[in-house]
Amino acid sequence: QPVLGILGGGQLARMLALAAAPLGGKTLVVDSSADACAGQVAPLVVADWTDYAALEAFAAQVDVVTFDFENVPAETAHWLAERVAVYPAPQALAVAQDRLAEKTLFRECGLPTPAFMTVDTREQLDQALATVGVPAILKTRRLGYDGKGQFRLTRQADADAAWAALGAQASKHGLILEAFVPFERELSVIAVRGRDGEFRIWPLTRNWHVDGVLSMSLAPAPDIEQLQRRASELARTLAERLDYVGVFALELFVKDGELLGNEMAPRVHNSGHWTIEGAYTSQFENHVRAVLGLPLGDTGARGLSAMLNWIGELPEPTAVLKTSDAHWHDYGKQARPGRKVGHATVCAADAVALAERLDALAAALTRQAQVQPTLDVLHS
Ligand code: ATP
Ligand code: MG
Ligand code: MG
Repeated sequence: QPVLGILGGGQLARMLALAAAPLGGKTLVVDSSADACAGQVAPLVVADWTDYAALEAFAAQVDVVTFDFENVPAETAHWLAERVAVYPAPQALAVAQDRLAEKTLFRECGLPTPAFMTVDTREQLDQALATVGVPAILKTRRLGYDGKGQFRLTRQADADAAWAALGAQASKHGLILEAFVPFERELSVIAVRGRDGEFRIWPLTRNWHVDGVLSMSLAPAPDIEQLQRRASELARTLAERLDYVGVFALELFVKDGELLGNEMAPRVHNSGHWTIEGAYTSQFENHVRAVLGLPLGDTGARGLSAMLNWIGELPEPTAVLKTSDAHWHDYGKQARPGRKVGHATVCAADAVALAERLDALAAALTRQAQVQPTLDVLHS
């Protein structure tokens, strides 16, 4: 029985462990917190990223190491890669950890990005604002997630407030100022590449964020015929450049019908959770298959799926459990403002049936505002 080691014990590790089991894979998870939610479904090693004694023992027990958490320090990933197979490789992880390296790679691969400039000092912020213009977003180059480590500027005069919020990060991790893109749509590519180079993507997902956090996804994204092929080619080019192994996500904006690259995630991704029930093979199963060197599964969609994130707290589950082809996911995490604590996926054969189910469910949960943008698309 192969043993899969996972760095980070959040809900992604938990869903990976649940997908590994039927493939005959055992899982061992490392997290610095003893109540990491993956620990409820898999054995957990409690250690931080510099606890090399614990990591040495961990490496001796696993056949392959992968990531739930993309910000494992590069040194730790490299150190582990000298002892055991690590997928994706530390070099690929390093690119995705830094917004500058990531955007530079996108451009090299023919994927345009929003205008951007790096910012390391207060003076450079003024220079970048003069070049990039407003509205703009100042972001930390590293360690941001769920819209954390970002400041939106609507006027030049917001520079002081932006610097007060993020200036301290500038010397440590560097900042990047990006033009704010008034996009028509947000899409993501969930892609997988095997150890042998086999490459597949799922149908594109349409995403809606609220305050920088993913709120809802719809897949397959409607009206994407031309974009699907282009997105697939770009994702494949990126994956080959990085010699990537496993699942990754590529977040895209659509502006004037063209794709712009926002960021990539070197791991399974929240916008791919619909694949658990909505695709022939889930992103979690295919990630496990890829890193273990098994053949990849079919990435086709079974129908239409909508995924609703539960942020801060879980609603009462009954309405979801009573809905046909709806699926409840409780991550077993403590409720906390802004924290992703679960999701639900609603599937249906077509847009009309999905809209009906979503509409009824949202009414029962009083979540009409959350589902409205998705309903508008399904009705159009
Ligand atoms: P994640 O949890 O996806 O890793 P993150 O903290 O890395 O999030 P981003 O993906 O950079 O953050 O931004 C979060 C969301 O904020 C985006 O999905 C998008 O909705 C919005 N956003 C970010 N950058 C821009 C931009 N340049 N123009 C317009 N909207 C943006
Ligand atoms: Mg991110
Ligand atoms: Mg993002």
